[in-house]
Amino acid sequence: GDFPIETDTIVIGAGPGGYVAAIRAAQLGQKVTIVEKGELGGVCLNVGCIPSKALITAGHRYHDAKHSADMGITAENVKIDFSKVQKWKGSVVEKLTSGVGGLLKGNNIDIVKGEAYFVDANNIRVMTETSAQTYTFKNAIIATGSRPIELPAFKYSKRVLHSTGALNLDHIPASMAIIGGGVIGVELGNVYANFGTKVTILEGMDEILAAFEKQMSSIVKRNLKKKNVDIFTKVKAQGVEETENGVIVTYEEKGEEKKLEAEYLLVTVGRKPNTDEIGLEQVGIELDERGFIKTDKQCRTSVSNIFAIGDIISGPQLAHKASYEGKIAAEAIAGHASEIDYLGIPAVVFSEPELATVGYTEAQAKEEGLDFVAAKFPFAANGRALALNAAEGFMKMITRKEDGLVIGAQIAGPGASDMVAELGLAIEAGMTAEDIAMTIHAHPTLGEITMEAAEVALGSPIHII
Ligand code: FAD
Repeated sequence: GDFPIETDTIVIGAGPGGYVAAIRAAQLGQKVTIVEKGELGGVCLNVGCIPSKALITAGHRYHDAKHSADMGITAENVKIDFSKVQKWKGSVVEKLTSGVGGLLKGNNIDIVKGEAYFVDANNIRVMTETSAQTYTFKNAIIATGSRPIELPAFKYSKRVLHSTGALNLDHIPASMAIIGGGVIGVELGNVYANFGTKVTILEGMDEILAAFEKQMSSIVKRNLKKKNVDIFTKVKAQGVEETENGVIVTYEEKGEEKKLEAEYLLVTVGRKPNTDEIGLEQVGIELDERGFIKTDKQCRTSVSNIFAIGDIISGPQLAHKASYEGKIAAEAIAGHASEIDYLGIPAVVFSEPELATVGYTEAQAKEEGLDFVAAKFPFAANGRALALNAAEGFMKMITRKEDGLVIGAQIAGPGASDMVAELGLAIEAGMTAEDIAMTIHAHPTLGEITMEAAEVALGSPIHII
């Protein structure tokens, strides 16, 4: 035995769930230790949200440089040095992850490198290649995140990639097949299509981005097709054969077997929680049938001094959800009455155009039998959108009929990812369409679309009939 190190709260995993929980716990007076086996920042900062958005930006710049003739701009010899793109992407990641390190240190949080494993409900062991150390804690917050699901017929390899492999390619492939037309498949497919890769998406469901309304996903689909992306829906990917220079993917379409050749295959079919290798069985923490940790409204597990947040509990696997839950768990440990409320949680796809949703959709409002108004306003009626040469899309605001309370919104259009914040605030603060309509929005901005959608809800929009 080693001498255990004592701490108040131990946080396992330093992704957007764990590092935020650690900081909030320290702010609330706890002595905090955070254990991370990989890199500070977790999936999100290192191989998720941030590097994918960096590549998306590079893809847009490159594509726009070549395709702005309608605005009178033509450029010859537009070149791309992909190793420089990757280096720049790395520098963005590095700024953020070192920033997280600085924040943790600045809050006097002990950062421990290694892999944590539960011994019992008050002790974990942290292993590195050369050492093992026990930590004794009063409370723990588990934030170990998730990893790509690996299908038996599609073992990951040099040519069969998961999202991390696709983010870290050292050259722009001539062609890429993608299994899974969800958020990650569409975002990365769009990136490489912008770089000139011949992209083919194979999706099992009726539509890509099936979590979004068809009115929204169909705009994205149209734009992908304009970039020469082939999209096959209702198909079943069956297997892959690796050749010297690529892969041959076999899939079934309407009962017929088809083959597709590509330089790489990207498989994005979902992520599974990292709950299988941390000794949860030693503590008796309950999981659901899919391996997610069961938690209450304070993110407390079945063991009362242990909390779980982020991708390892139920709900959407999103960075801002993990961070939000991290704050709630830290506050619960400090004895606050904080509870999770997902009503105002947004979800965004960084596609072209961007898609965003918050609160109720029209379909959900119908399902619940609510008396509601769905007020739609097109980007094409907004001056800024036209001046941005990006006037495709719409906002739909869902309000309660009796009093105009804003209960949801969907946006398909440029800037949707930022615009959704105002709607989230409205939902969170219990605002009405009138509150938004009466708020003076600067001209010309995309924010005016939100004001005008509120005016549509009230029945008196200025810029559409
Ligand atoms: P993670 O970020 O997965 O962090 C968990 C950490 O725990 C890891 O660093 C891991 O090394 C560590 N760990 C695991 N086990 C142990 C152990 N036993 N001991 C010590 N440490 C351990 N979400 C968005 O909201 N917006 C986006 O735009 C977005 N884009 C994405 C793009 C891609 C390509 C991917 C893959 C994901 C994206 N996501 C996005 C999802 C987002 O990354 C996750 O929801 C988020 O990272 C979850 O945070 P987390 O803290 O729960 O876990």
